[in-house]
Amino acid sequence: AFDVLVVGGGPAGAAAAIYAARKGIRTGVTAERFGGQVLDTMGIENFISVPHTEGPKMAAALEEHVKTYEVDIMNLQRAEKLVPGATAGDLHEVHLASGAVLKARSVILATGARWRQMNVPGEAEYRNKGVAYCPHCDGPLFKGKRVAVVGGGNSGVEAAIDLAGIVAHVTLIEFDSQLRADAVLQAKLNSLHNVTVITSALTTEVHGDGSKVTALTYRDRNSDTQHRIELEGIFVQIGLVPNTEWLKDSLALTTRGEIEVDHRGQTSHPGIFAAGDATTAPYKQIVIAMGEGAKASLAAFDHLIRQVPT
Ligand code: FAD
Repeated sequence: AFDVLVVGGGPAGAAAAIYAARKGIRTGVTAERFGGQVLDTMGIENFISVPHTEGPKMAAALEEHVKTYEVDIMNLQRAEKLVPGATAGDLHEVHLASGAVLKARSVILATGARWRQMNVPGEAEYRNKGVAYCPHCDGPLFKGKRVAVVGGGNSGVEAAIDLAGIVAHVTLIEFDSQLRADAVLQAKLNSLHNVTVITSALTTEVHGDGSKVTALTYRDRNSDTQHRIELEGIFVQIGLVPNTEWLKDSLALTTRGEIEVDHRGQTSHPGIFAAGDATTAPYKQIVIAMGEGAKASLAAFDHLIRQVPT
């Protein structure tokens, strides 16, 4: 059995695996796709001490760094079920889609999250070419340009407020007849001179010139008419979905599916820890996921040294 079994091979999982392996304990990582969301990212400019890198390059570096340690890497393996040990000291089980069952004295869950997509023509084609999901990451790329934010919940309105300080103009597009964000955020949004809010609008297409976004069309749901907005960027803010569906019978999750963790990354079950975008830890960023992964790993080690051998 593993001392520490990490599920997920993104920044959080890679950091957790390295911190565990450095303690000289038996460490495994199982990941559906090593690298995680970083693989889908182009420019990364907020990974402190590295002014610029690219997603695939960072993903390869994550794997390379893990491989310098004695870590059993099981890539392209999807975990389907977690069976926590029944009593203290019992092994936990992670069941893989392949049918294999991995056993471990402690588990670190780092399965990340995925941004909900609009699923309209042009969105996938212009991803990273004007279509963006993370204002903290890509906002500065649109300095002085025109952008839209799709989604009028808290994250959409926060993104619009954030971007309004950087870009020339923000159009916030909400499907419903009113914004769903907290009143205090809406009041802030309404005080900004370079933001236009459009409600009852369904985004129908992303347009581009072959290499970058040039416009967006939406359907006004009241008048059933199509409208076109010329712009350079579109931030899709219609939800970040944690990859935790497979855990709902085993651990405490929030209504949004985030794994509930305390300040040490401990979940509702002793010996099972979690880190990164899959958890309640706020602000979903690479540097944060790595820090949370390191922290959860040290907490797992602390847990293990308190177990009396049976
Ligand atoms: P993830 O990176 O999501 O990794 C999750 C891992 O778990 C993957 O290996 C996945 O395959 C695996 N997994 C999932 N489910 C299972 C399962 N059931 N069984 C086994 N394995 C599973 N952040 C920044 O700081 N700067 C940026 O510039 C930046 N740009 C971004 C651009 C885009 C387009 C996107 C999508 C995100 C961006 N982010 C950026 C956010 C950043 O990528 C995430 O915060 C970070 O990757 C989270 O790390 P994580 O390890 O928690 O999860």
